[in-house]
Amino acid sequence: MDNSKQVKEAFEQAQAEAKAVREAKAIQQQNEARQVEAARNNKLEIKCSSCSGEYLLSKKNIARRGTAVKGVIQIGVVCPHCEHFAHSYFETPAMQKAQGQIYRTKFVWERSRNERAWKKLKAAQKKKQIAHDRAQARFAYLLPDAESSEEDENPLPATHNPEA
Ligand SMILES: [Zn+2]
Repeated sequence: MDNSKQVKEAFEQAQAEAKAVREAKAIQQQNEARQVEAARNNKLEIKCSSCSGEYLLSKKNIARRGTAVKGVIQIGVVCPHCEHFAHSYFETPAMQKAQGQIYRTKFVWERSRNERAWKKLKAAQKKKQIAHDRAQARFAYLLPDAESSEEDENPLPATHNPEA
């Protein structure tokens, strides 16, 4: 292999690494922006669609409950006044599995910072998103009509994920 080819390859490798680092930084900035948004949401007063009572959204208002389908969990917000449960999203074993894969690939990425690890993390995140979207469509029938038709009832941001 001649010298110029080696130099070119080394340069391309360095460029790929720099790109991966830039993308990781962009993701970090996005996550921080999301956290700020969540903090702001926490200060917002939520108005219960059932009793019209108002309360501040916080982690303690977020609840998980089982459904008629084995393994499928409903995540939602519980009104502290009347205990009305407002649905946010469904969680399935496939989503939990995909989340586990995100943890593992993220762990590898944070230590290696190479492109291969980066791609695996991105693939795991995409898999989780697909599993999430699929589950919401698949189990929508579990929601009572009154609840699914009131779109403004869901006070959690669409990206809300307490495990992320
Ligand atoms: Zn209420």
